[in-house]
Amino acid sequence: MFTIENIVRPHILTLKPYSSARDEYTGTEGVFLDANENPFGSALEGENYNRYPDPLQGKVKEKLAKIKQCKPNQIFLGNGSDEPIDLLFRAFCEPQQDNVILMPPTYGMYEVSADMNLVQTKKVKLTPDFQIDIDGVLKAIDKNTKLIFVCSPNNPSANSLKKVHIRLLLSNFNGLVIVDEAYIDFAKEESWIEELSSFPNLLVLQTFSKAWGLAALRLGMAFASPEIIKVLNKIKPPYNINEVTQTLALQALDNESKKNEMVKAILEEREKLVIAFGKIACISKIYPSDANFILVKTVDAEKIYDYLVKNGVIVRNRSKVVLCDDCLRITVGTPSENQILIKHLDLYK
Ligand SMILES: *Cc1c(COP(=O)(O)O)cnc(C)c1O
Repeated sequence: MFTIENIVRPHILTLKPYSSARDEYTGTEGVFLDANENPFGSALEGENYNRYPDPLQGKVKEKLAKIKQCKPNQIFLGNGSDEPIDLLFRAFCEPQQDNVILMPPTYGMYEVSADMNLVQTKKVKLTPDFQIDIDGVLKAIDKNTKLIFVCSPNNPSANSLKKVHIRLLLSNFNGLVIVDEAYIDFAKEESWIEELSSFPNLLVLQTFSKAWGLAALRLGMAFASPEIIKVLNKIKPPYNINEVTQTLALQALDNESKKNEMVKAILEEREKLVIAFGKIACISKIYPSDANFILVKTVDAEKIYDYLVKNGVIVRNRSKVVLCDDCLRITVGTPSENQILIKHLDLYK
């Protein structure tokens, strides 16, 4: 059975977290002489950033909870998705003892974070059509396996992973299943957030970096049970989300329709690109995409990549990645950017 006590590292359970001035007194009225801030204002004219930000980002979470149809206490916000990924290792994985399961080809940050934390990675390749090798994963689980990373839609293959498989992992694994939904806004599938109440061992990652168009802000989201969120809050740096980011995130969340319009435009462009790629001689296969990028197999990824760079078009060469021989990962751009890409691909050789 999954219990949080069974998987948290013992010293994290008993850790006494840093208590900030803003944790100890949370009222908004008063004479604030508790945090050694500058009482006069800031060195920025007309702006006041002299006070430390809300350590738990209450306003952002309240707004986000309405949009995502969950509770504020089911949300953790991090400095990009990188931060919750790293915190998951630090909270749940004993270095040089525990392990996690990854399913390549997938997002590179899981392995970097594991390596940084001296945690072993067990790799169970996706099948050739980029779905979960469910028997392989279930067999790879041992008593020290704490996390399974599932990226859906998957980067770099762009497809969604089958829900029946993810459900099997959730019900047959006593550690945490992390479903990274960085590209969920571009997918036909519904988010796993709606399943949080059914699976105490589910954690969903999302980000403001893709559909919301806020990669520069560095704001990632994790959704899970309040017990799991509490553990992440306990070990995060006290003020991990700065005031500028919180203010701008609130503005963006009030403007969800703009995000939806951009997603719609990207999906239209994705469809046009798929049609155009179908007519290009040097592309031999177009993989189905549920994301804002498309993985294509080419006749010679190395050469085509260099050729495109020479012409000022930068794509991602994924040809050295397992199951991605001769593959390029191409982000959907604006109509004019995509036309430039297609023009050069048409002229190749
Ligand atoms: C882009 C991406 C992210 C987002 O990372 P941030 O740190 O939030 O910018 C997360 N997961 C995957 C799979 C991605 O491709």
